[in-house]
Amino acid sequence: MDAAEDLNRARDLVADAGHIVAMTGAGISTDSGIPDFRGPNGLWTRDPAAERMSNLRAYVGSKEVREQTWQARLVHPGWSAVPNAAHHALVRLERQGRLRTTITQNIDRLHQQAGADPERVLELHGTMFETVCLDCADRRDMREALGRVRAGEPDPPCASCGGILKSATISFGQQLDAQVLERARIAAQSGDLMLVAGSSLTVQPAAGLVGLAAGAGARVVVCNATETPYDSFAAAVLRGPLGEVLPALV
Ligand code: NAD
Ligand code: ZN
Repeated sequence: MDAAEDLNRARDLVADAGHIVAMTGAGISTDSGIPDFRGPNGLWTRDPAAERMSNLRAYVGSKEVREQTWQARLVHPGWSAVPNAAHHALVRLERQGRLRTTITQNIDRLHQQAGADPERVLELHGTMFETVCLDCADRRDMREALGRVRAGEPDPPCASCGGILKSATISFGQQLDAQVLERARIAAQSGDLMLVAGSSLTVQPAAGLVGLAAGAGARVVVCNATETPYDSFAAAVLRGPLGEVLPALV
């Protein structure tokens, strides 16, 4: 099937769907200035050592990794990013009453900033806007810890118990929030269309939700610049830039 045919087919699938579930990844936010990990300009593509900052064992085991990670948090592009045309297109779909749930692997809150109902966004991998203590689970606004880093604490410990603080995101080696994952599983199996946008679908269990949706009878549309392991499940695969593809679908 050629690209134009796939686009028409995907448009029809979206138009006919009454209950859409979206699965989004870092690729939907690259146009907002937040690089992905594995795309051509991805953080890890350019600097494989940066992967350590997303690894729980490396983070817990090394003060140097933590200090480097706090410096990276200070200048994260997510602090000033604004949603792009792709996020806005999904919000339009939600307001039509057809996009019921957005399962996102992103930590940048750009779906909510674009106007998505926070109740309908499942942040599978947590959020960069809060910190969590790895010892006592105390959660706070990330701005508090960043203020301490700026004031001269290179690796600020938990203010309640002195434990190691981390952003409230899911690192490799860390379990997902069981409740969020369960809600995502139920959502994935409830839709008649699973719309994937900007994910390499290589991180589990997130990627497996697409297979779960397909297994429950949902049609799958994959919108991603590069190949994913789930393309063969898909009724249509769109490789164009999401800032054009999603508005064209909605
Ligand atoms: P990924 O980096 O593995 O894959 C992103 C995919 O998006 C790539 O396959 C790339 O080809 C595609 N892509 C990039 N820009 C695109 C565009 N404009 N149009 C179409 N396709 C585009 O990301 P992932 O699957 O989300 O997994 C990475 C992990 O990294 C996730 O766990 C997530 O938590 C985390 N992460 C989040 C952010 C964020 O919150 N914005 C950014 C980087 C990483
Ligand atoms: Zn603590």
